[in-house]
Amino acid sequence: MTKLLPTSTAGSLPKPSWLAEPEKLWSPWKLQNEGLIEGKHDALRLSLEAQQRAGIDIVSDGEQTRQHFVTTFIEHLSGVDFEKREVVKIRNRYDASVPTVVGAVARQQPVFVEDAKFLRQLTSQPIKWALPGPMTMIDTLYDNHYKSREKLAWEFAKILNQEARELEAAGVDIIQFDEPAFNVFFDEVNDWGIAALERAIEGLKCETAVHICYGYGIKANTDWKKTLGSEWRQYEETFPKLQASNIDIISLECHNSHVPLDLIELIRGKKVMVGAIDVATNSIETPQEVANTLRKALQFVDADKLYPCTNCGMAPLSRQVANGKLAALSAGAEIIRRELAAK
Ligand SMILES: [Zn+2]
Repeated sequence: MTKLLPTSTAGSLPKPSWLAEPEKLWSPWKLQNEGLIEGKHDALRLSLEAQQRAGIDIVSDGEQTRQHFVTTFIEHLSGVDFEKREVVKIRNRYDASVPTVVGAVARQQPVFVEDAKFLRQLTSQPIKWALPGPMTMIDTLYDNHYKSREKLAWEFAKILNQEARELEAAGVDIIQFDEPAFNVFFDEVNDWGIAALERAIEGLKCETAVHICYGYGIKANTDWKKTLGSEWRQYEETFPKLQASNIDIISLECHNSHVPLDLIELIRGKKVMVGAIDVATNSIETPQEVANTLRKALQFVDADKLYPCTNCGMAPLSRQVANGKLAALSAGAEIIRRELAAK
């Protein structure tokens, strides 16, 4: 990017109410068959337009074609039985009924590649595509085959790499892996989680990112955050090894969180997507509030490596709130661009 402080989102954006029930995770589709395919593409187009109207620089599909950021990818793989469900604790936090790994996992066909080609032909702006990370994928499943989190993560990393290579060929500029599990399983992250992530990006020439957050603004997450105390130092556990990894960009949660921003110093040299929009509240940030967060982050990230972003996806918010937040992000970044230009 030649533009200073290019803005983007963590990924998901609200879907239109005619496509899926709004303000809900795992919201079921309201259309079927051909109508659903057409509806998803229409929604993707609307989501792109909303980002463009707000002045977002690096655009995405708003994850309009997926029901959930992890589940939808897994649905396309063989070796996972969606009828056979078990209740597991996701990220040590909340119970969920999840599908079972019953055999060797494999990707029989591309998952998002056609959607990425569709987005590519709609815009010449840089596009970012989000995929679930290997560790977050294994945490959303019951494994009755490999019986090893590390082994299953490694198999998923190989599958993700196949998808990522095809997304790159489709013209995606940045491929992002969502790894909220990196904020929970620190020993595993350092033992094999980052290695699995590097396996997923092997051979890619496009830019790569990892998004590590404190989750969507749903109750299970906000309740968990209340237990974390006044200083959230989770990033401290994983940043040193991520700094030494091959990942280009680290996307993290900052605004309204209790993350001490000086932890960003630990990834000095990386590009940093700084979360300057809180996704756990309906109140829309002022441009000044966004600017304040970015200004603080600038103490620890070089200006040419700072990418203003949202803390996490905005799927559970209303479209009106999400659009307001996108506009605030752009306006806040512009305040800082002008300050930097005046120096
Ligand atoms: Zn997130």
